[in-house]
Amino acid sequence: MTDAAFPWHGGRPSVNFTATLGKRGGQAFDRLRTPADLARWFHEAGLADHPLKASARNLDDARLLREALYAAFTATDADLDVLNHWAGRAIPGGRLERRTDGLKLRPPRTDLEGMLTLVAQDGTNLLSGPLAPRIRECGRDDCWLLFVDESRAANRRWCSMETCGARTKMARYRA
Ligand SMILES: [Zn+2]
Repeated sequence: MTDAAFPWHGGRPSVNFTATLGKRGGQAFDRLRTPADLARWFHEAGLADHPLKASARNLDDARLLREALYAAFTATDADLDVLNHWAGRAIPGGRLERRTDGLKLRPPRTDLEGMLTLVAQDGTNLLSGPLAPRIRECGRDDCWLLFVDESRAANRRWCSMETCGARTKMARYRA
């Protein structure tokens, strides 16, 4: 994975959104460098299948929301006003469409601010739901990605078995 590629190991849109800031505990870098990156994230996340226009203001708002989510997920002092502002807005719902293979829910046709609301609502639902205690940080020392541990045994340790899990095991084997 190159640095610019978005990680998708979080299990929830709001958790994946926090991963747009890379290497949080080290030399942090922002994968949302331009408004276009932000629009691309929503497309890659499957939250939008229509053209999105993102502004510099949207990018500022997105970064603030992202950090409020991260703080709430890691039980640090989160800015709840930011979360509540975005989560409390009304947006249209998704649209059911009939396909040859059954019904499919298309994402709502809403603008970039509506997209931030989608992510914020996902975050507040997660934080107030049964999976809230299952939000964890990857167990590898130099990885700070969050994920929702939905494993039956509640023992998932890595953001990804293929990357962090395998690398940690290999390092132990060598040692
Ligand atoms: Zn990891």
